[in-house]
Amino acid sequence: GRPVLEIRGLSVAYGTGDKAVQALDSVDLTLHRGEVLGLAGESGSGKSTLAYGATRLLPPPGVITGGEVLYHPRSGPPGDLLSMSDDQLRSLRWQDLSIVFQGAMNSLNPVSRISDQLTDVIRAHQPDLPRTERLARAADLLRLVGIARDRLDDYPHQLSGGMRQRVMIAMALALDPDVVIMDEPTTALDVVMQRQVLARLGELRDRFGFAVVFITHDLSLLVEFSDRIAIMYGGRLVEEATAQEIYRLPRHPYTHGLLNSFPALRGERRELTGIPGSPPDLNALPPGCILHPRCAHAMRVCSGRPPELATPPADAPSARTVACWLHHPLAAAPAHLT
Ligand code: ATP
Ligand code: MG
Repeated sequence: GRPVLEIRGLSVAYGTGDKAVQALDSVDLTLHRGEVLGLAGESGSGKSTLAYGATRLLPPPGVITGGEVLYHPRSGPPGDLLSMSDDQLRSLRWQDLSIVFQGAMNSLNPVSRISDQLTDVIRAHQPDLPRTERLARAADLLRLVGIARDRLDDYPHQLSGGMRQRVMIAMALALDPDVVIMDEPTTALDVVMQRQVLARLGELRDRFGFAVVFITHDLSLLVEFSDRIAIMYGGRLVEEATAQEIYRLPRHPYTHGLLNSFPALRGERRELTGIPGSPPDLNALPPGCILHPRCAHAMRVCSGRPPELATPPADAPSARTVACWLHHPLAAAPAHLT
């Protein structure tokens, strides 16, 4: 498919100078038109940082320290989101690219009716649309996400959590965007709801053709509902492949660990059985592959040189990429490193 969003070398730090923490290190990721791309990784791996950095919505003290993010419109040349004016960016948001923040369903305005919140989004971009048409559009959007129109006059507290989540999706779809980014909350209780949200988004994608980036650390959901999956660790991408490839034959030991830590549908999250230890301290990253202290397969080279994200020879001609020495030939490496 044609790319709709191309992230190139995106780096993000929180803070500046000595206290800066590099939360994203030169990430490359392409989203194609109409695909559902899942983004997974443990808490703190940089999923939200990637989403908010790429859309220039990073909260302070986050700063973009490098890279570009090309948005390809339906027609016309691509533009770099990172160098657009605020006006350009504002007209792009909702209309072309909408993002539902982590925990956003709790950020609906408590004193404003659902209908007003939906019509406000529409009005901001289509000020000339008559009020009756805005309301009709709001009712259509609610129907799309499975909410009856008699809920239009409700306030957020009158809706269940799942319904509020669906209202957020309706808002994200209000202006028929090309890209919808959903950053999901990560608590175990939300697994059932996440499943419903992702299933619904998939259906709507089939109908309207927008592309989705769905962020979660529940890889089992992504295997079921996404086309491609990207895995993050310590602010880097470590593997990217189709959902099938990830499920059938995960290449990266970290992906393997995530797959083995499927949370139960109800009840407590299991440990990451495949990966003992905890995520890296971004202020003191280990040399070489940053996973090596936690990796059961670590070889000598792993603490010496960082592996690059590339297609393993064994996987060519697929487009899968993996950053792990296990899957890349070391023929060219000096003997003392292997
Ligand atoms: P989760 O699954 O918990 O949402 P995540 O993968 O979205 O995690 P991020 O929130 O992107 O992770 O955080 C990536 C790293 O950046 C973490 O180490 C985090 O501590 C750090 N970080 C995030 N926000 C800030 C901030 N405002 N100030 C300093 N560091 C931050
Ligand atoms: Mg997050």
